[in-house]
Amino acid sequence: PPVAIVCVGMAGSGKTTFMQRINSYLYGQKDPPYVMNLDPAVRSVPFDSNIDIRDSVNYKEVMKQYNLGPNGGILTSLNLFTTKIDQILSLLEKRAFPDGPPPTSFTATSAYSSSSAATPASSSSPSNTKPISRILIDTPGQIEVFVWSASGDILLSSLASTFPTVIAYIVDTPRSSSTSTFMSNMLYAISILYKTKLPLILVFNKTDACKDGDWSWAEKWMTDFEAFQAALQQEQESGSFGGAEGGETSTAYGGGSGYMGSLLNSMSLVLEEFYRHLKVCGVSAMTGDGIKEFFEVVEEKREEFEKDYRPELEKRW
Ligand code: GDP
Ligand code: MG
Repeated sequence: PPVAIVCVGMAGSGKTTFMQRINSYLYGQKDPPYVMNLDPAVRSVPFDSNIDIRDSVNYKEVMKQYNLGPNGGILTSLNLFTTKIDQILSLLEKRAFPDGPPPTSFTATSAYSSSSAATPASSSSPSNTKPISRILIDTPGQIEVFVWSASGDILLSSLASTFPTVIAYIVDTPRSSSTSTFMSNMLYAISILYKTKLPLILVFNKTDACKDGDWSWAEKWMTDFEAFQAALQQEQESGSFGGAEGGETSTAYGGGSGYMGSLLNSMSLVLEEFYRHLKVCGVSAMTGDGIKEFFEVVEEKREEFEKDYRPELEKRW
């Protein structure tokens, strides 16, 4: 079965640009994906999508009708869309298994690799459509609307019950170059890992905008606690601690012996354990750098899904 790749990340991290990039990469590989846009508030989608939430709900109208603000409008639109989840899944299944019956249960999965089971005598005449091998999903700019809502839950678990599903957590790398923003971003990634219980890939995006295109510090901070500590120390000494962009925070927390420093210090020890479960890659959605490597990581995570995550998910259902 195809792997579903769900792009999540803070607003502006580059989800949509990344979707556009991996979409065109797959077209280049002559392996077009099935694409879904779940952001009701986006003005224009720079890629062709097979399913677009905006075709079924008008976010502006929802806001007006229910007297909601932007966030409530997005959440309500997603809720309305989610009521059609069965239709969406059957569309996906048709494209994923054009010559065979849709899966009936988890345990039937092995049947798809066997051609005799995939095309039983009783099935309708085989179609000429090539089965899709990837499903790409873009999510609303407001990450919490998707990750922390009932709809998001339903969408993700429905997907994961039929397809191996991985989360691509997109990080705005240049904006995470101070130890504190880096740490907040990592903690958020971990909360998503906990919440979704799906394999997670950390996609360090915008590597082209990093100094000298170098994002190796990010990977280093995740694998080598001492490197992170050294960076922390350096920021404290230079008085820039508290965020490269945040002028006022640096005076509040800076000065070397702040509570934030010691908090970050102890957290990073705990995080080491989590980091071992995450896969990391650096990409530029802008230039296309690292996209091939991203798909290699997706394959690893797909296997992990089958091996470790699926049995856990089955227990939950
Ligand atoms: P989203 O809100 O997560 O969907 O983010 P968008 O894809 O809309 O991107 C937000 C901004 O980041 C846009 O101005 C993009 O042009 C920019 N951006 C996205 N990816 C990259 C990248 O790889 N490099 C650079 N330099 N900018 C990027
Ligand atoms: Mg977007």
